[in-house]
Amino acid sequence: MNESERQLGVLTEQVNTCVKCPLSKTRTLAVPGEGPFDPDIMFVGEGPGFHEDKQGRPFVGQAGRFLEELITSIGMRRDQVYITNVVKCRPPENRDPAPNEMAACAPYLDRQMAILSPKIIVTLGRYSMARHFPGQSITRIHGQPKREGNRFILPLFHPAAGLRSPDVAELTRQDFLQIPMLLQQLRSPRPAPEPDSQPDDGGPKQLSLF
Ligand code: URA
Ligand code: SF4
Repeated sequence: MNESERQLGVLTEQVNTCVKCPLSKTRTLAVPGEGPFDPDIMFVGEGPGFHEDKQGRPFVGQAGRFLEELITSIGMRRDQVYITNVVKCRPPENRDPAPNEMAACAPYLDRQMAILSPKIIVTLGRYSMARHFPGQSITRIHGQPKREGNRFILPLFHPAAGLRSPDVAELTRQDFLQIPMLLQQLRSPRPAPEPDSQPDDGGPKQLSLF
């Protein structure tokens, strides 16, 4: 077992026994997240629903089925990506997570991001989007990736919104196609300088992304 795997195991155990916010009183099982310890992609949803709370696994209900369809559409499998949520315990009646609950739970997501170090973080829905795009509207910025250091953050609609609206589902299918393009961009090496390029004249330089 390597160090990331060990740290992730410790974190998962902490989440499973966490009592840092009131959701601990109403949950059946906490839902820490699941996937490999060295994923390229991490999906961050909002919070567990009815089935997730019973099984202790993320996105196992209807929204999960749509998410899996989307993952398959880009030639990947669910078990190749990491899937988690902003809050790890189910809000009663699937209400929105409250600010104090999100704040209490945020350190777990911070740690997951640090340990897993994904190349792309895909936020699902507005609560997940908010930490990377404060004050923005999902309707305006869905599908538009932002670079944060060496990774991309891609804000998408929540899959449950796609279940309610065929138009949103179609937009999400289109937005998903960004993922392989971003991976390709991250993998392709920095372009080599032109062999016959002019010597440095002190003029404006092109900004390197890396
Ligand atoms: N919706 C979410 O946001 N997360 C889940 O895990 C399931 C449904
Ligand atoms: Fe702990 Fe997060 Fe569950 Fe609240 S939602 S009890 S902070 S794991």
